[in-house]
Amino acid sequence: KAAIIDGKAIADQIRKEITAEVSKMKESVGNVPGLAVILVGARKDSSTYVRNKKRACAEVGILSFDVTLPEDVSQEEVVARVKEFNDNPAVHGILVQLPLPKHISEEVVLGAVSYEKDVDGFHPINVGTLAMQGRKPLFVSCTPKGCIELLKRSGVQIKGKRAVVIGRSNIVGTPAAQLLQRENATVTVVHSQTPNPAEITREADILVAAAGKAELVRGDWLKPGAVVIDVGINAVEDLSIKKGYRLVGDVCFEEACHVASKITPVPGGVGPMTIAMLLSNTLDAAKRAYGVANA
Ligand code: NAD
Repeated sequence: KAAIIDGKAIADQIRKEITAEVSKMKESVGNVPGLAVILVGARKDSSTYVRNKKRACAEVGILSFDVTLPEDVSQEEVVARVKEFNDNPAVHGILVQLPLPKHISEEVVLGAVSYEKDVDGFHPINVGTLAMQGRKPLFVSCTPKGCIELLKRSGVQIKGKRAVVIGRSNIVGTPAAQLLQRENATVTVVHSQTPNPAEITREADILVAAAGKAELVRGDWLKPGAVVIDVGINAVEDLSIKKGYRLVGDVCFEEACHVASKITPVPGGVGPMTIAMLLSNTLDAAKRAYGVANA
């Protein structure tokens, strides 16, 4: 049976390392990293994400600055807030919680974030440099970065392996494929228009599933011994439990765990890594701002 890649334990370890680095920074430069979070509107899920991010910052000693703007705020006002944070030297990372209300352009708002404070890795300069050989983005999107970190910290060799990524979104699939390629895997991307996905995933030594389709990947989609990173978070109805739903990944865990050699669970796999990578990006931004060398 497949070994479980325990994302929660690995994320906890990373948070410990960040806590130690933050306190070292406090001693050496007298400052700690700062993360600004901008929330527009009162979506329940977004408010929960923002609350979790703020709590995670507090736990490692990162200061958080937050601004909540009303749903009907103008685009100019949101951009003005972003620019205030761009100019604030105590703020090293800026995060705009998505989605934004329809009357506000994500392109305009995300483009206004200084690429040096773009801890979500969504600025076109960071996205562009990730795509360029020989260039290094200042920041990489947190979820795909977390996938690579999970592989490395689980002792999975990436170099020379066949990797398949399901999904081509800007936030997960595309950067995950680019990162795997940078780690010298041979990468294929499968997406919604791929006619024969299972045929392709069966070639994968490493499979990253980010389609947002509950249990899309069955046991027979996998090569025996494959390493499976399941990014999907899907709510499926389950009236046998109080909440009325449970969360499943893009991979049918029950089947996959008999074929794969290593697999991430949902929840408790990639999810906890996303926030850990946000903290790590914020620490990196502060180190760069204060000229602190990487350990
Ligand atoms: P998205 O909807 O933007 O993109 C989904 C991608 O999957 C698209 O590129 C599409 O072409 C592809 N796809 C859709 N159906 C497919 C199919 N049947 N076969 C092959 N490819 C298919 O979603 P996203 O933002 O990339 O997120 C993907 C999943 O990851 C979602 O379940 C989301 O909730 C989850 N997610 C998890 C985290 C985390 O922290 N764990 C973070 C971000 C997203």
